[in-house]
Amino acid sequence: MNKKLLKELKEKLEQERATIEEQLKRFAKKDEKIKGDWDTIFPKWNGEAGSAGLEKAADEVEEYSTLLPIEYAFELKLRNIDLALEKIKKSKYGVCEKCGKEIDERRLKIYPEARFCLKCKK
Ligand SMILES: [Zn+2]
Repeated sequence: MNKKLLKELKEKLEQERATIEEQLKRFAKKDEKIKGDWDTIFPKWNGEAGSAGLEKAADEVEEYSTLLPIEYAFELKLRNIDLALEKIKKSKYGVCEKCGKEIDERRLKIYPEARFCLKCKK
């Protein structure tokens, strides 16, 4: 892979990483103990008395369960981006983890954190 493209993809990965972190910060906090792990902030029930309080708590729980898969998806993407950046550092970027062949540059342009070539992805 030529250096110009590699630099472009690296910048893309870093940009994407920053965007995802920004999104995650809105509803999750970084787990300081586990690298790359994020916890969705469970909204605390403020203990309001009566049915209004309970209803509010139920809404918040619902919100939590819809955010969880999003958090997971972001986390996964973040992990793949980190892996790709790590590979760039070790000059091993763009190689399929399964068959060891070079991943199509067109694929990397769309999906720079790809770990497998199209054949192995299937
Ligand atoms: Zn492959």
